[in-house]
Amino acid sequence: MSTPSPTGSESSQSKWPIGVFTSIDAGLGVHLDVAAELGVPSVQIHAPHPDTRNAEAAAKFLGRCADSAITVTAVFGGFEGESYADIATTAATVGLVPEETRAARVQEMKEISDFTTLLGCDTVALHIGFVPEDRSCDSYTSLVAVTRELLDHVAGNDQQLNLETGQESAEHLLDFIADVERDNLFINFDPANLILYGTDHPIDALLKVGHLVRSVHCKDATYAPVAGRGTDWGAEVPLGEGDVGMRTYLKVLETVGYNGPLTIEREIANDRERQKADIGAAVGLLESLRSQIG
Ligand code: MG
Repeated sequence: MSTPSPTGSESSQSKWPIGVFTSIDAGLGVHLDVAAELGVPSVQIHAPHPDTRNAEAAAKFLGRCADSAITVTAVFGGFEGESYADIATTAATVGLVPEETRAARVQEMKEISDFTTLLGCDTVALHIGFVPEDRSCDSYTSLVAVTRELLDHVAGNDQQLNLETGQESAEHLLDFIADVERDNLFINFDPANLILYGTDHPIDALLKVGHLVRSVHCKDATYAPVAGRGTDWGAEVPLGEGDVGMRTYLKVLETVGYNGPLTIEREIANDRERQKADIGAAVGLLESLRSQIG
C-alpha cells in the first residue's frame, strides 16, 4: 500500500514529478515496492534480464505499477559483462563503444526497445560508453553508424533514446549527437556522473546541453582528489551532500525549460536499508526545493 508523499500533492504534480530509478531483476536500482512505499508517481527501470523481457513479465510489472499509480518514464539498457569497477574498466566494458560486443549489444538494445513498447513507454536510455575523442577515427565513425541503426529501430517503436551523461564532456556529447543526425536522440542528464568521472562541471554542462535534456537523474557526488577523465572515481553521496548543489541544479533545470520527472538514483545496492532511507530523504529534499523553485 502506498504512503502519501509529505506534501500530499505528488499524484497530481504535473511539473517535476518525483521519480526513482528501479530494477526488476538487473541493475542497481531499488525494487518497485520502495517507490510504492515512498508514494512517488514515476520510475525509470533498468531493463530486466533477457529471459524476463517478455509480454507476461511486462504485464505483471505494469499491474504492480498500476496498483501504486506509478508511471514508467524510461527503460535503461544494460548488458552482461559491463563493469564499473574503476574508470578504465568502465571504458573497456560499458555500452556500445567496446567493439567486440558492439553488434550483439546493438541487437539487444533493439530488443530492449521492443520490450519498452510492452510497458507503454516512449523512452529508452543508455550509457553508450566512452565515446572516442577522435571524431575521425574508425571506432568513432562506426559507433555513429550503429547508433543511427539503433535510433531508426527505436523510431519504428515511436520512441526516443536518451544518452546518459558522464563519460564525455558536454561539448563532446553535443558533437556526437550532431554527428548521428537523428531527431530522436536526446540526453538523460546525470549531474553526479560528470563529477564522478571528472569529465565536466555539472551546472556548466547542463547550460550547454539543456535544450536536449529529456530526462534527468537526481544524484549527488563529490569530486576525486585529482579529477579528470580516466583518473580516480569521485564518491557518490546522499542527495544534497555532494558537489552538485541541488538548489542550483533545479534552478538551472527551470532555466533550460525542463519540466519532466526528477528521478532519484542512489547506487548502493549492497546496502538496501540505507539506499531506501537515502531515497526517502531525497524525496523530501526535492519536494521542498520544488515548492520554492518550480
Ligand atoms: Mg544516472
